[in-house]
Amino acid sequence: MFHDLRLLQTLPAAVLVTQEGTIRFANVASAQLLEAHSTDILIGRPYSEFVHPVDLQRSSNRVQQVAEPPQAGQPNKPSEFRIRTVHGNLRMVLITSVAIEWEGAPAVLMCGLDMTHQSEIEAQLRESEQNFRRLFENLQDVYYRTNAQGVVQHVGPGVRRVLGYEPHEIEGRTAESYYPQSSDRDAFKAAILENGEVSDFPGQMVRRDGTVIDISISSHALYDHTGNFAGVEGIYRDVTQRKNLERELHRLATTDMLTGMANRRAFLECAESVYEHSRSNGEPLALLMMDLDHFKSINDRFGHLEGDRALVAFSQAVKSQLRASDAVGRLGGEEFGVLLPLTSMDEGLEVARRILHGVRALQLGDETGHTYGITASLGLSTFRQADRSLRDMLDRADQALYLAKHQGRNQIASLEPLGE
Ligand code: GH3
Ligand code: MG
Ligand code: MG
Repeated sequence: MFHDLRLLQTLPAAVLVTQEGTIRFANVASAQLLEAHSTDILIGRPYSEFVHPVDLQRSSNRVQQVAEPPQAGQPNKPSEFRIRTVHGNLRMVLITSVAIEWEGAPAVLMCGLDMTHQSEIEAQLRESEQNFRRLFENLQDVYYRTNAQGVVQHVGPGVRRVLGYEPHEIEGRTAESYYPQSSDRDAFKAAILENGEVSDFPGQMVRRDGTVIDISISSHALYDHTGNFAGVEGIYRDVTQRKNLERELHRLATTDMLTGMANRRAFLECAESVYEHSRSNGEPLALLMMDLDHFKSINDRFGHLEGDRALVAFSQAVKSQLRASDAVGRLGGEEFGVLLPLTSMDEGLEVARRILHGVRALQLGDETGHTYGITASLGLSTFRQADRSLRDMLDRADQALYLAKHQGRNQIASLEPLGE
């Protein structure tokens, strides 16, 4: 037996061979366990020297039992023993023994695993597991994993707070069930398939109570060992508050606070895209520029606040003549623009006339009982094939407005023939 002792020497477990209680063989791991600087100093010493007195009786019983029927030839069940090292330090060692033959005579082979730090390691593992659990339970984000068919396999407890569902209610269902617009989900899937991952991908989900929330997803694709797409794993978080703030900021940045209309920048941006759309589709387009007449004198007579109220009344009068698809904005102090898609010269003129009359019909008055009316001048332009950009239309409408002012105000002018 054990012709090649190198195997025993290199085992990470401590191995001792004893004959009649005396150590005949010790491997490197056993010397380390017993804090002996070499295996040689262990050879020839009684193994009982290294067993704590409280465990001595139990130890010698076990050594005897393995040599006798019915146990002979079978290793005994591993059991923990207190071991004393050569320096007198205590170790807790899990030992199993078996009867063997050593150089032609009966012997016992003992194999030991140092368990001294085992309970500490267990406690550490338990604690880190608890920490992880706590973190996982309190995570603001929702961890999730789906299979290749999009069926949710696992979802974290954060889903209770974010969607109002218990994790088990979500697991086994497809993620689509929680999307108000399936197009959102399609865009997400396309991005995952194309890039293998997405970061801060926007979307919306429906909570159990029916409210729609904004979410942000960061996920990556999972692949099986053959490289096939196997699902998606990642997190999503509720970003409704952030989105509301962004929407509010966008509203503030694009709206004129007095009239509630688009401000100059937003109007021009919108006009730009309407212009491009109309041009590429060969659709007619009309543009109106409007400026209140002698507005300075309204301010002078009734005060700036009343002037503001007149501006609000004017914008409402204008809006009431427009379709939802028309774009209107405040370009400056008392100057406004209206873009009319799918509108010919004649139709544009008709809208301008209605605005002109609507404004004339306004009856305004200040707190002291003074009543007054307002008028506006309007410049009209329409798209021409030769135009290079929206700018050309804006310039013609501007010149037309100037013309309307010059011709006496309270009227419509255009550089194109007005056809009357
Ligand atoms: P015109 O017929 O030539 O346009 O005469 P106007 O007095 O309207 O002249 P202009 O357009 O040059 O002057 C605009 C005046 O509108 C100047 C300013 O006092 C006033 N205004 C501009 N913005 C506001 C505003 O937000 N509130 C009020 N109350 N007045 C404004
Ligand atoms: Mg004016
Ligand atoms: Mg002006």
